[in-house]
Amino acid sequence: MPASAKKLVYGLIILCGLGALFWQLLGPEANPYPDTAESATGWMCAECGELRMLTARERDAWTMSEDRVLRGRKATGGAVTMGSERTIFKCERCGEFALLRARECPRHQVWHLIRDADGQYVGCEQCAAE
Ligand SMILES: [Zn+2]
Ligand SMILES: [Zn+2]
Repeated sequence: MPASAKKLVYGLIILCGLGALFWQLLGPEANPYPDTAESATGWMCAECGELRMLTARERDAWTMSEDRVLRGRKATGGAVTMGSERTIFKCERCGEFALLRARECPRHQVWHLIRDADGQYVGCEQCAAE
């Protein structure tokens, strides 16, 4: 075997080794979604007003669970919306698919929906009243 071919083979072996190492470090065992309060996002029910904090891991689990989530066209009643794919979760309190992404107004510490069930932007009521 010529020297250059040998180098190539060794190079490949080293690459494979590194790849296997990375796979072990980042492999399927590691859940990339943290289950921490800092990772949590706020979700609010458009029907009953329930506020539910979901950690990144909970959110991922709910997103994968067919009976808890409506996504994309299912969430928009068949309409194809540009850009943002909507996610609607099932509310644990009232059982409706109406749990939508919410945010807390930094000025009033009031939680409100970012968009309503029809996809219209919703602001803080108290800000709007000023
Ligand atoms: Zn509800
Ligand atoms: Zn406000």
